[in-house]
Amino acid sequence: MCNPIVISREGDVSVTQCANCKVINIWNRNALMTFSFDEFYKFIEATKDLIFDDYIENNPDGIEVVIFPSPLVDISLVFTRVEWHEFFSALNQAAYMLQIYQMVHC
Ligand SMILES: [Zn+2]
Repeated sequence: MCNPIVISREGDVSVTQCANCKVINIWNRNALMTFSFDEFYKFIEATKDLIFDDYIENNPDGIEVVIFPSPLVDISLVFTRVEWHEFFSALNQAAYMLQIYQMVHC
């Protein structure tokens, strides 16, 4: 059974890791993204240089958003500027915490 532990939280975004199987989850409102440890680092590596302003579109309400294709299914994530900031700062904090955990446990 999974035993998720919160490793970072920013706004509505939480990153958890299962204490048993080490699966990493990103909880972002109604979206839940699941990664293995390696996949999580690949995702961080692939997204680290993305800049919100380079990808702006308008949603049906005329609000500036960035649409982010999910790597797994035909569903996209939509971020406002604030949500984008929360998402990536939660991710970066999580990556930092995981590095510290690894140093402690190895
Ligand atoms: Zn688990």
